[in-house]
Amino acid sequence: MTPFAPHVYAGRRRRAADAAARAGLDGLLVTPGADLAYFLGHTSDTAAERLTLLVVPAAGTTPEGGNDGVADALVVVPRLEAHDLERHAASPVEALAWSDGEDEHAVAGRLLRPHGRYAISDSAWALHVLGLQRALPGTSYQAVTRALPMLRAVKSSEEVARMAAAGAGADAVFGEILTRRFAGRRESDVAADLAALLREHGHEQVDFTLVCAGANGADPHHDAGSTVIEDGDMVVLDFGGLADGYGSDTTRTVHVGEPTAQEREVHDVVRAAQQAGRDAVRPGATCQDVDRAARRVIDDAGYGEHFIHRTGHGIGLTTHEPPYMVEGESLPIEPGMCFSVEPGIYLPGQFGVRIEDIVVAFPEDTPNGSRPLNDSPRDLLVVA
Ligand code: ZN
Ligand code: ZN
Ligand code: ZN
Repeated sequence: MTPFAPHVYAGRRRRAADAAARAGLDGLLVTPGADLAYFLGHTSDTAAERLTLLVVPAAGTTPEGGNDGVADALVVVPRLEAHDLERHAASPVEALAWSDGEDEHAVAGRLLRPHGRYAISDSAWALHVLGLQRALPGTSYQAVTRALPMLRAVKSSEEVARMAAAGAGADAVFGEILTRRFAGRRESDVAADLAALLREHGHEQVDFTLVCAGANGADPHHDAGSTVIEDGDMVVLDFGGLADGYGSDTTRTVHVGEPTAQEREVHDVVRAAQQAGRDAVRPGATCQDVDRAARRVIDDAGYGEHFIHRTGHGIGLTTHEPPYMVEGESLPIEPGMCFSVEPGIYLPGQFGVRIEDIVVAFPEDTPNGSRPLNDSPRDLLVVA
């Protein structure tokens, strides 16, 4: 991923510090993965068991017992990785290195308030959360996407530009796969084509290439197997990954040969539901409004019991992340939020239909609605 300018990362840390203060928290604790990439420009090793922890104190606070009370971000890092982090971070911060044999959680604890309330990365290892609690029994922790949900959910225009490029790549992939043969090939053959095409179209990471033919389409998370695609099959294609650090995720359902009237009808219902979900992005709307709008169309058509998942998920530095477009999620939709709208109907033993686009909420050119970042045709296309 091409790093952004260093000031972008410093700006994100400042925004997090302000948001933490407004939420009544003492700070934000960030562990390796997409969160660390967001704030430092380096993912670090997510599989390493040693503690790496970026501490972003809330604005207006000073780290308790920290080095002379400067409320800037500090990263606690294993001594053997300190150099690597310094060298690879797009925007390095001061490091506090600990050595094997030291209590890493006690070292990190020196930067925390003994009775502090902290937001911490959703993916922080339980080992480390429990270790911090043991080192400082008065502290408490909340998942960052619950405590500060808008931090990564709201994208800057620079981020939206990368999301749009990833989406355009996914559209190009769909355009090319339509010209290839389906009948007589295995799902896994078409999946391999999709993966190669995603790489050709700017993706450095392929996260999923679902190809679900015929009755397999009735299972929303069927991957791609040895099933041979036949004439008459509906085929659900759901593929995506990361292009220059940002995610694409799109689904189209195609048909091998001429579809039946029932197949057309179900596809029409899903298409109308997907449009309704996108249209529900209006000023004042919440995440669950998107789900309700899409679900209402499917309910009204009599297929409600066959729409068996939420309508969407956030996307950004990962292909699936909060917030979720689901009943009960009352977070407001804010300008710059990017998420999927992907209703489906799944008829066991027969076939499934899903249509998915990534949208950005209230961009400059569409201030009262959403703009799709995928825009390939949504009608039921016939393949060979
Ligand atoms: Zn058919
Ligand atoms: Zn998808
Ligand atoms: Zn999705």
